[in-house]
Amino acid sequence: MTVYNFSAGPGVLPATVLDQIQTEMKSFNGSQMSILEISHRSKQYEEMELEAEKDFRDLMNIDDSYAVLFLHGGGTLQFTNIALNLTDKYHHVAYVDSGHWAQKAMEAAQKIDGLQVDRIGSSDNNLPKISAPDDDPLDYLHITTNNTIEGTTYHQIPNSTQPLVADMSSNIMAQPYDVNQFDLIYAGAQKNIGPAGMAVVIVKRDRLTSHPELSEIMDYWLEDQKHSALNTPPVFCIYAAGLVFKWLKKFGGVPAIYQQNLEQAKLLYDYVDNSKLFNNSVAKDERSLTNLVFGTGNKQLDQQFIADAADKGLVNLAGHRLVGGMRASLYNAMPTAGVKALINQMKQFEMNHGG
Ligand code: PLP
Repeated sequence: MTVYNFSAGPGVLPATVLDQIQTEMKSFNGSQMSILEISHRSKQYEEMELEAEKDFRDLMNIDDSYAVLFLHGGGTLQFTNIALNLTDKYHHVAYVDSGHWAQKAMEAAQKIDGLQVDRIGSSDNNLPKISAPDDDPLDYLHITTNNTIEGTTYHQIPNSTQPLVADMSSNIMAQPYDVNQFDLIYAGAQKNIGPAGMAVVIVKRDRLTSHPELSEIMDYWLEDQKHSALNTPPVFCIYAAGLVFKWLKKFGGVPAIYQQNLEQAKLLYDYVDNSKLFNNSVAKDERSLTNLVFGTGNKQLDQQFIADAADKGLVNLAGHRLVGGMRASLYNAMPTAGVKALINQMKQFEMNHGG
């Protein structure tokens, strides 16, 4: 039975990348050692890391005025690091409250002494607008481009007079964004990048200054000086991410995967919109391409759908516990066959359960 994994995180990785990892675990680059055993101070590691960074820069069109950092601690540690590294000037930031993870990011900033943290909008209804008054300068305005739990996305980023910081954890490289609109972008790796345990940070170099009062591992400036190898870096994550970057480049890069993501999301949303049993209440222009939420409105029926689908190899379709219902996460590595199999299962279920 073919298994399709719709998990929100860790998400599905390209099958060819997983195969390559298995092969290379016996011998990385002719070394007779796996990447897990190779020193991060070796030439082999350095070449691998530089290539991963170069491929990522190519995919996201990132020039040298930005640092690219591969850091420990996932997206969550960056919630705190951003607020510690980028707030020297005004000690004042604002967070657009577009959902659960946006709130988590804001709560981390609120823990920092002497930092004024404003909340913009509320995720109760539609997505709040990305805007903050421009007469009161901010160190940054924080947004979450894709709300993993709520299934909403900012597809267009308006020009902002305030410097933008974006959490792109769940839709980085899923659709094109212009890096130059942001002072900093960060993403936990375990959705469109690679294995959990790492975050990628893209940050304007002119925003970085030394922060000797911080633990060294939290100082972005120092991490940039040390090429993300201040301590032993997340070697396996960087290596696997590098393979994912190569896979995506071969696919045609972000524009090509964006087309596939649009097509896949359209298949599923069109089915849900025409269904008498399933529904999705997100406004059409705010719908996520990576996390598609839907439900029957009946908890028991939802649970039965999730269980039946799992029996057919369509796994991890339960919605987040805060939202309920179902969620299909269609990260970059999801083949279109997986989406079609899901829709067939939904049709079958709808036939059996009225609607
Ligand atoms: N931000 C968003 C949008 C997420 O979806 C997640 C996790 O799902 C996080 C942050 C937290 O990332 P991590 O688990 O890597 O700390």
